[in-house]
Amino acid sequence: MWIFIALLLIQFAISTLLSELNLVHLKRVAAAPPPEWAARLDTSRFPQMIAYSAANTRLGRVSRAVGLGVTLAILLSGFLSTLAGWASALAVPRVVQGLAIFAVLGAISYLSDIPFDLISSFGVEKRFGFSTITLKTWLLDQAKSLALTLVLGVLLGGGLLLLIEWLGDWWWLAAWLLFGAFQILVGFLAPVVILPLFNTFEPLKDEELREKIEALAQKAHFPLGGVFQIDASLRSTHSNAYFTGFGKTRRIALFDTLLDQHTHEEILSILAHEIGHWKKKHVFKQLAAGLVLSGIGFLSVKLLLDIPWLYETLDIGDLYRQVGTAGAVAAVGLYLVSILLSPLGLFVAPLANWVSRRYEYQADAYSLDLYDHPTALETGLIALSEKNLSNLFPHPLVVAFRYSHPPLIERVAAIRAIVMHTRHRRA
Ligand SMILES: [Zn+2]
Repeated sequence: MWIFIALLLIQFAISTLLSELNLVHLKRVAAAPPPEWAARLDTSRFPQMIAYSAANTRLGRVSRAVGLGVTLAILLSGFLSTLAGWASALAVPRVVQGLAIFAVLGAISYLSDIPFDLISSFGVEKRFGFSTITLKTWLLDQAKSLALTLVLGVLLGGGLLLLIEWLGDWWWLAAWLLFGAFQILVGFLAPVVILPLFNTFEPLKDEELREKIEALAQKAHFPLGGVFQIDASLRSTHSNAYFTGFGKTRRIALFDTLLDQHTHEEILSILAHEIGHWKKKHVFKQLAAGLVLSGIGFLSVKLLLDIPWLYETLDIGDLYRQVGTAGAVAAVGLYLVSILLSPLGLFVAPLANWVSRRYEYQADAYSLDLYDHPTALETGLIALSEKNLSNLFPHPLVVAFRYSHPPLIERVAAIRAIVMHTRHRRA
């Protein structure tokens, strides 16, 4: 039990330390920004940027503390053994007993997150002029994601429990294949089945821009499934663009908010960046790395799930000796193992983020090469960051642990170096 408590506290401490460090760093640098940047950035927005970061840090602080409190209460109160006893007494197949446990634990986590979602959507995000969501849209979103979670939870959670019960020592290999196949399937289906549940996709209305985008894709020999705009303004004014789907379902989705706030040149340079991710096979490489990691993950889960003291700790040793790792016991075991393995994520994150940041630089270089415009990418990225009130001066440690994209300033510096270099070469 002490191992569990120690792991939870260490993670809590590291997360809190990173967040607080980040805010202190932001305030210090923004008060006296590097002179070469002070001239290029809109410093009048700095107080807003700091206030937005501070508000989110405060919210994160409370939400993290509540999360820790809830998990500790679940572990220390004997709730898990009561829950396992209750579920295993249900007159249903074992797999359904396990699913009942998932449902209860999932409901607790969902309910403890809801207040923070509400405060974020209707408090912080509204106060800073981002959130445009209505209570009706929010409620509909909740209903749709709950339904989606329920369907996927029964399919994947049930599948996992069945494999554990049926396949003995080899369940992890089958589970890995199942989840890997599911991940790839979602890649194909997300743009046509899941995302349209939440947003309306319609062909890009701006004909001129669409022709420019198609010309750009053709120049890159990039097969395009379609160019769509989505009604992101339904929820917030934060803007973005992304590629989604594989093969025939591959499409570009531009937030309507992006279309309102950026020039054609900026949008094209941002899309050229996204095309760069495909051309450089980043999407494929990250999917492959994710599959390898999840294989290691499933094997670790299997090894930990077989340790008897896991169950003795929680007074479900008798049940474990009776049914082995199946049904309710497996479900509780999986919950405990997820706590044991969560610090691993903390160590994998810096590596994964480092790779991802390198990919971002490569995609920027590709964009400058494909869409030959000296300033559009730079001004596009600066405008995107400033309008989203992104933290322009994150602490380097926080960048290492949490940033999948380079901080704006380092990114723009790299872009400028490439532009200068190209200019020299041409001269
Ligand atoms: Zn990118």
